[in-house]
Amino acid sequence: MTNKENPMKDLDADIFFQIVHTFWEMKSWRESANQIVKMIRPYFIFDNLVIYLLDPMNLTLEAAFAKATGRGKSAEADVAWGEMIATRVVESGQIVLQEPEEANPLNRLKQPYTLALPLATPSKVYGALVFIRFGSPPYSAEQIKFAHMIARLLSRQIQYEYLKRDRDHLEFQYRVFQVQEDFISTVSHELRTPLGFIKGYTTTLLRTDANWDEKTQREFLSIIDSETDRLQDLIANLLDSAKLQAGQIVMNFQQVRLESLVNDLLTRLALHHPGLVIHTDIEQPLKPIQADPRRLVQVFENLLTNAEKYAPASTVYITIKSVKNGVKVDIRDEGPGIPEKYQERIFDRFFRVPDQQTNIHGSGLGLFICRQIIQAHHGEITLTSKVGEGTTFHIFLPERID
Ligand code: ADP
Repeated sequence: MTNKENPMKDLDADIFFQIVHTFWEMKSWRESANQIVKMIRPYFIFDNLVIYLLDPMNLTLEAAFAKATGRGKSAEADVAWGEMIATRVVESGQIVLQEPEEANPLNRLKQPYTLALPLATPSKVYGALVFIRFGSPPYSAEQIKFAHMIARLLSRQIQYEYLKRDRDHLEFQYRVFQVQEDFISTVSHELRTPLGFIKGYTTTLLRTDANWDEKTQREFLSIIDSETDRLQDLIANLLDSAKLQAGQIVMNFQQVRLESLVNDLLTRLALHHPGLVIHTDIEQPLKPIQADPRRLVQVFENLLTNAEKYAPASTVYITIKSVKNGVKVDIRDEGPGIPEKYQERIFDRFFRVPDQQTNIHGSGLGLFICRQIIQAHHGEITLTSKVGEGTTFHIFLPERID
């Protein structure tokens, strides 16, 4: 019924359809509430609409959404927004309707008609939806039913969002837990193995009931020496990765000529890694770039020693060329490759390809550190790899950092 005094449209199938459609389309209960306020005004006159939600931590009610329209807007500051009535609704789980005790046609603001509905599903109460209207007419039975339907749809959407948030939170906690587990098992294994060697060979050398000739003594000492290096590397990697992740490593950017940086590194590697065969193809002249030379050497050394570890029979190919706005470095081996399903996680902290290298030592920190360093240079590191054919790491370094 529409008349002059009460210019409201009838609640028809059209508005029901629009409401359901809005809840279906909107991504969050807040967006839905925003839309609904606009849509229902011609059918259902109210001045204020407030959504109270229970804070799950301390179980207090908080106004999570409030809209004041018409007369409510001018009284926004001194209006009681309906917290008391919302509390009653939450406690009883029932709809509460509150009408003014006596008519006061001179001051509508003193005559709130309040309709409060529970926001709840059969298993949980989330809060209350409160409509406040200043002045008559009272809410009709049809309007109360309509408001009830809105409250139910809203409750479902809130429930869905809460469940999704809980699930995301659980997933996050699970991932944190897994990283900690991996950390403990990797680090304890990686620490225990060299420590076992060091302890074993030292105890053997110290035995008073045995005499070791000089050659054997040197052999044992050199094992102790290299196992100590391994421990040192692991501890340095652990510290680096923690600091890089926390953004605590300051890069020392300067003008760098990659060509001489790589050549110096190769000369050093030839001394300590005589088995590593490296073929280089470096474009001449190569444009200089802004970089932290010590950190870049760390990245290249890591990739090259990885190739030695995981692709021991392969030559390693380094290609460097100038590209638009920077330099591109490819480091390729013809080793066993990395299965596609693991490639996405290869730069994750502590990730190692399972079953690939039961006897190859490592902590899964190297590639994580490489990515952090390249990212600190505003560059990019990616890989392409095919099982049985080999792996290429592609690095892009920009010419300038700023
Ligand atoms: P680590 O070598 O200490 O295990 P990294 O982070 O350097 O850790 O490497 C992560 C994993 O990536 C390695 O455990 C290995 O499984 C795989 N990987 C790295 N480089 C290669 C490569 N060139 N060929 C095959 N697999 C590789």
